[in-house]
Amino acid sequence: MAQGGAVDAPYAKLDQLEPGIARVLAHNPSAFTYYGTQTYLVGTNRLAVIDPGPDLAEHLDALEQAIGGRPVVAIMCTHTHRDHSPAARPLAERTGAPVIGCAPLALETVGPRADAAFDGDYAADRVLGDGESLDVDGEAIVAVATPGHTSNHLCFAYRGALFSGDHVMGWSTTVVVPPDGDMAAYMASLDKLRQRDETVYYPAHGPAIDNPHQYVRHLMGHRMQREKQILRLVGEKPRDIPDIVANAYPGLDPRLVIAAGGSVYAHLLDLERRGLVERQEERWTAVKVS
Ligand SMILES: [Zn+2]
Repeated sequence: MAQGGAVDAPYAKLDQLEPGIARVLAHNPSAFTYYGTQTYLVGTNRLAVIDPGPDLAEHLDALEQAIGGRPVVAIMCTHTHRDHSPAARPLAERTGAPVIGCAPLALETVGPRADAAFDGDYAADRVLGDGESLDVDGEAIVAVATPGHTSNHLCFAYRGALFSGDHVMGWSTTVVVPPDGDMAAYMASLDKLRQRDETVYYPAHGPAIDNPHQYVRHLMGHRMQREKQILRLVGEKPRDIPDIVANAYPGLDPRLVIAAGGSVYAHLLDLERRGLVERQEERWTAVKVS
């Protein structure tokens, strides 16, 4: 579900979005990152850098130039996917700033919890728990724990804005793929945002969201529709995941078939936990409720 509108920031250029919030777009476009990862610079005289992005020399140079010698109080990552955190360490070396934010999370590269999308080298000088904050230039940046996309995902609240990472994105629905992605946690984390009063979200990918409550409601509705559709499909007959994907996502971009399968699997695990579906080998069936 794209929200339309292109990101107009050119790569490696500082784009001031509002006083105290600027963005630099990294040159890592893909089917999962849209035009690339948006790194945010927060503060005026002293800065925090949110989601430093991939370890690309061009991006690090652009960040260093955008920082312009100002003291960096913290380099903060929303989570440790490879398009978000690998630049943290080299940027820390360039600026002397500590890495403060999400917890490290290294899944195995082989085996049942393997996930090559994770940055296994990430290390934090300080991990922020839910509600913990950091002072940047006289304003607080508050960590909002939002597991779902990954178990270690944080959003960061700052004045009336929320840096929403990959939890809420401006161009597409979030990938929620087991083993680390968890659909029930993701839905609870969306609901958590509805209780908050930020008026604009700055996601890591895609344009800013200036109607966040409506947008989050829409995302939740979309997942509930998807769940209903999956329940209906496995209620007709036992189906495996590729069969569900083929029926639930007609005309899907072939590059996204694996991610869609992961998302369907996340729904099925959640439904299984709730006693609504069961599996026999590769096939899933609805549990008949009397
Ligand atoms: Zn991610």
